[in-house]
Amino acid sequence: MKVPFITLSEQHAAIREELLESVRGVLESQLFINGPAVRELERRLADLCECKAAVGVSSGTDALLCSLMALGIGPGDEVITTPFTFLATAGSIWRLGARPVFVDIEADTFNIAPALIEGAVTRRTRAILPVHLFGQMAELAPILQVAHKHHLYVIEDAAQALGALQGGRKAGSLGHVGCFSFYPTKNLGGLGDGGMIVTRDPELAEKFAAFRQHGSLSKNRHQWVAANFRLDTLQAAALLVKLGHLERWTAQRRANARRYDELFSASDAVETPAVHAHNHSIFNQYVIRVPKRDELREFLAQKGIGSGVYYTPSLHLERCFADLGYKRGDFPQSEKAADEALALPIYPELTEDEIVYVADQVRGFFA
Ligand SMILES: *Cc1c(COP(=O)(O)O)cnc(C)c1O
Repeated sequence: MKVPFITLSEQHAAIREELLESVRGVLESQLFINGPAVRELERRLADLCECKAAVGVSSGTDALLCSLMALGIGPGDEVITTPFTFLATAGSIWRLGARPVFVDIEADTFNIAPALIEGAVTRRTRAILPVHLFGQMAELAPILQVAHKHHLYVIEDAAQALGALQGGRKAGSLGHVGCFSFYPTKNLGGLGDGGMIVTRDPELAEKFAAFRQHGSLSKNRHQWVAANFRLDTLQAAALLVKLGHLERWTAQRRANARRYDELFSASDAVETPAVHAHNHSIFNQYVIRVPKRDELREFLAQKGIGSGVYYTPSLHLERCFADLGYKRGDFPQSEKAADEALALPIYPELTEDEIVYVADQVRGFFA
């Protein structure tokens, strides 16, 4: 049996006509930039995230970059974040001349450890940037407490967590800003790049909207120097089609995760993903921890099963961040996760037989 790590072909086959119709609509309207689909998607995302406003942007990376820019983060500033994430999180801080200050992760969830954050605050700290990794929100209550005490912004990197909940509150709605990605393999993925910034603060929303369009609040008047971070109308139109299916797809991912959990429950070698009791994960990834991760991955490949490694190396050991001066041993939990984490296929279209086959092979490797 062949089980690819990720495939979009079934999903796109099922909604092919709807997608083509949406693309045709944009082609006929000729409104390629800031078209009605962009505004409609913004309204729908603001609703979904229980926020006042949403601003469509060109990618998840640009959602981070545009919000950090609009919040005035720059040279001399520090932003506290996790080293166990995709490069874009710390990369966006770095690109603005600010310093990413890493804090280690929790042993169970892969998310930033809130108890370690206050120890990293200095008089240069301007913001905390937690990441909701693999679909589960980082513990925001203690993070918001530290932020409040030290007057810091909280920017949620919710690229992998659209629709995730914590204590009944939506990802992106608890901090000052939430950043989302529509990269094709995210739970809501476009036919290319796209992203969204959400906020409960209408003034901030206006600033983000200006920053995505060369710092312009009104035609031919530029208040700030920014960039072009716009979301294409074509992407927004396709995303509106897919948004109609998101709830069902996410429910299927969650059901797949529960099934894996059951199948691995008797395995000593496999540590299944921990989800805190007040969290509702959308399972953008299903990430187990195992010994001999790389050998297992190779074994699975021979059995026709794809898998993914997120993230190695831990960002504090990445070459591009060498100037930050971190060394091996600085963030032991993140380094351990980088050695042990393996993502298994979790997409909504997986069949029961495929899930059982994957679990059987994983267990077989350790038998
Ligand atoms: C995908 C992702 C991003 C970047 O999103 P793009 O749309 O690919 O630019 C940022 N942070 C995290 C945690 C991500 O998973």
